[in-house]
Amino acid sequence: VKSRGRNSYEFFDPTMEAKTLERILMENELRKAINQGHFDIYYQPKTDLATGKLTGMEALVRWIHPELGVIPPNRFIPIAEETGMIIELGEWILRQACRQNKEWQNEGFPPLKVSVNLSARQLHQKNLTEVIETILKETGLEPKWLELEITESILVKLDEAIDTLQAVRQSGVQISIDDFGTGYNSFSYIKHLPIDTIKIDSSFIQDIHQNQESQAIVKAIVTIAESLNLNVIAEGVELLDQVAALSENGCDQGQGYLFSKPLPTKDFKQYLQTVHHY
Ligand code: C2E
Ligand code: CA
Ligand code: CA
Ligand code: CA
Repeated sequence: VKSRGRNSYEFFDPTMEAKTLERILMENELRKAINQGHFDIYYQPKTDLATGKLTGMEALVRWIHPELGVIPPNRFIPIAEETGMIIELGEWILRQACRQNKEWQNEGFPPLKVSVNLSARQLHQKNLTEVIETILKETGLEPKWLELEITESILVKLDEAIDTLQAVRQSGVQISIDDFGTGYNSFSYIKHLPIDTIKIDSSFIQDIHQNQESQAIVKAIVTIAESLNLNVIAEGVELLDQVAALSENGCDQGQGYLFSKPLPTKDFKQYLQTVHHY
């Protein structure tokens, strides 16, 4: 089928070409979506496990494709990362989350922290500190109502960017280490990181109500968090049995489908009106 004019065609692999084509189409679509603003932010509550009160919310981006509908972040964030488009998209997400949070405060809801996920590429951006400063000034949101969630896998490889993070934290913005416990040596470096909160990875929550090892790990994470004066939160909480096991092991905050799925802005506002605030 393919010409032998070029060597590479001799080893033609149809699945590989299909993937490449799909990838190229995806990149073009993503570029268009960024230019045309086809994204939305969903919000998922964070809850105090003892009282059921709302303590904050995580901003989670969605691509709203005109024909395909809602595309989840796992499908496009990695591509946005690799192509560098995440810089522009990430800035939009940050601004949008800060603006929305300030708007809810202006509407009279008790102030809450909004958590925004930050990718590796964004952390290595030279002017990240200025970008965040500008967004906070522009939206009028106080730094203490913004938290950045950074995955453990990114944080351990950070090296030079650690100074950037330190500077951001110095300005009053909070830092949370996401997916904690999945790393190779989670406990050894944690004390060196400029962070405020540990978010325990959902893999330990999934079976915590029926697995001694997961309980032991959560207990160890809580102990280390207490000794370092850090907050802890569990992600992926789906069952009341998990809440009980978390409470027993000293984890007092949770996030997950048990409380609510991530909600579009107007649905989250409704949630704000019905739930008790911290
Ligand atoms: P993540 O930061 O670990 O976010 C948690 C993911 O778990 C979210 O998926 C959320 O919808 C889902 N989740 C929440 N509660 C439950 C539960 O009880 N059970 C289960 N099975 N899942 C639950 P989502 O929104 O699809 O996001 C996936 C990932 O994409 C995020 O993982 C994060 O790494 C990335 N992401 C999402 N939004 C952004 C963003 O604005 N910027 C960047 N850089 N990454 C983002
Ligand atoms: Ca997160
Ligand atoms: Ca996570
Ligand atoms: Ca996780």
